[in-house]
Amino acid sequence: MADIIQLLPDHVANQIAAGEVVQRPASVVKELLENAIDARASVVKLIVKDGGKSLIQVVDDGFGMSPTDTRLSFERHATSKIRSAEDLFQLHTKGFRGEALAAIAAISHVEMQTRQGTEDLGTLIKIEGSKLVSQEVTASPEGTSVSVKHLFFNIPARRNFLKSNQVELRHITDEFHRVALAHPGVGFHFFNNGSELISLPAGNFRKRIVHLFGGKTNEKLVPVNEETQVVRISGFICKPEFAKKSRGEQFFFVNQRFIKSPYLHHAVASAFEGLLKPEFFPGYFLNLEVAPSSIDINIHPTKTEIKFDDEQTLYAILRSTIKHSLGQFSVAPVLDFDHDQNLDTPYAYRQKEASQPHLSVDTSFNPFRNAGDIRIPTQGGTLYPNAWERMYRGLQSLETDTLSQRDGFEQEVLTSTIFEGHNEPGESVISSLQLGRKYVITTIKSGMLIIHQSRAHQRILYERFLRIITVKNTVSQQLLFPLSLSFTASELEIIRQIQDNLTSLGFVLGDLDKEVVHITGVPVLIPESEVGIILDQLISDVQNELPGESFSQSDVLAKTLSKTLAVKTGELLDNVSQLALVNDLFACKESELSPFNKSIYVTISEGDIEKKFL
Ligand code: ADP
Ligand code: MG
Repeated sequence: MADIIQLLPDHVANQIAAGEVVQRPASVVKELLENAIDARASVVKLIVKDGGKSLIQVVDDGFGMSPTDTRLSFERHATSKIRSAEDLFQLHTKGFRGEALAAIAAISHVEMQTRQGTEDLGTLIKIEGSKLVSQEVTASPEGTSVSVKHLFFNIPARRNFLKSNQVELRHITDEFHRVALAHPGVGFHFFNNGSELISLPAGNFRKRIVHLFGGKTNEKLVPVNEETQVVRISGFICKPEFAKKSRGEQFFFVNQRFIKSPYLHHAVASAFEGLLKPEFFPGYFLNLEVAPSSIDINIHPTKTEIKFDDEQTLYAILRSTIKHSLGQFSVAPVLDFDHDQNLDTPYAYRQKEASQPHLSVDTSFNPFRNAGDIRIPTQGGTLYPNAWERMYRGLQSLETDTLSQRDGFEQEVLTSTIFEGHNEPGESVISSLQLGRKYVITTIKSGMLIIHQSRAHQRILYERFLRIITVKNTVSQQLLFPLSLSFTASELEIIRQIQDNLTSLGFVLGDLDKEVVHITGVPVLIPESEVGIILDQLISDVQNELPGESFSQSDVLAKTLSKTLAVKTGELLDNVSQLALVNDLFACKESELSPFNKSIYVTISEGDIEKKFL
């Protein structure tokens, strides 16, 4: 049989390599920024157009290249950064594989202009799909400028796979943040479609964080510093009271390289244990310096994982360092390193007073009497102070919901269908009770109904918000004192994307070009105190949904709001709330499934019950 093995031609090999290195415009941005840093630039300019699809350009004032190196830099495995395999264990540069430029040039049109400080003239080279188009001598500023156009021009499948400009821009911004945070001593300027998005003067780490995440960040930061034989840890953690419901501001850098490490994240999170409310995440910006030989750097260029020699020691050091910082800056009330964690009271129970259990029955209760008479049973002081109010808010009727009518809403709450024949006004035949602060139990004609209170309320709110957004039947609550909330540039970008829907919901937002946004109106259904949390949550949910892009913005918004505002498991509901919940649930278009596709209730028929007594 004839020989069948062939060596792949270089341009094919390059394209295959490109598939691994370049997933999207942001990958190009990362490689070019890192090359600029490796060239010891002091100021780096990033210019993108149309989410990087039309143009990605990085201009640096680093040491440049000779004419020969300029040509060579586009060859595969062409690198100035290692000479032997041993060098791999002493790496101080970002790149070392010599793959990036070759890969990028295989799938785009690249122009590079570069001049070394010692030379009078520079080089201009053009390469399209790995093919050299031209190379000439040119007058050029010191340093290097690389521009990448028509990304994936020869791989339509990859081009079509790209997301909207906004989504690609967000990925680029994420990469930019990571590189800029890892190198606070380097100045950066980021231009998008001709306007400067972010401008960062060279400075220290704290200033860099504040420049990127807004002036208010400064007061949130608690310094972290520790030096051991294994690792030097520096940076900042965010005070627990500024913890967010989104995972946004969590950064680890190992030897000035951004990494993701669930294991180290856990070390930090566990140091915060007991200081954060459930579902809140600590913010941190941490630099770890370790001996290059103690980590496995031979990882894939696009990956952000890393392998440490002694992960367990690192975990322990990191955890106690963070605890120490929290204690030193009096952020944590008590710090006792030897004390038994198991004896700690979980956060949610700390502020609660112990109370005698007792039973109370409101004998005069009648759900059908006029709204004005309704009293809320609060015996025993065990009722969550605002649980009832929260139900009330959530259960207002949309159609008649205006400020002046708020007091009269209860009259039309009961619009049930499954209780037919029973709900004669004046007759209190529907009864309900709460089980384990989780379920509401009520009787129906044929048996009983066990309703998951939180899911039911989510469904009610979800449908309500969806209607408000789509019908645009906005009811906004004017704030006497505008709320001023600060956002990062990328958060603002997302707010801009969802602005129309936010307005439909009833948010009245001021100028979105500033880092501090003044909010002068909020939806009636949303309490002022929760606006910040809700906007954070919306931003992070929209962000997380974006990559798929097959989502409907209004659906995401309604889901987020329903999830955040619904009563939770563990909340005590009085009878008024229980009944309102039942009735509003069955007035929903869909009452069996929560917005997150979970069952809302189960029924147990009289037959089922009778069987138990056989
Ligand atoms: P690597 O960074 O892994 O070495 P690249 O393909 O990114 O591989 O770059 C190849 C080589 O080109 C680098 O080793 C470096 O010598 C040179 N180079 C790339 N970008 C720059 C730049 N902005 N300034 C100076 N030299 C550069
Ligand atoms: Mg490189």
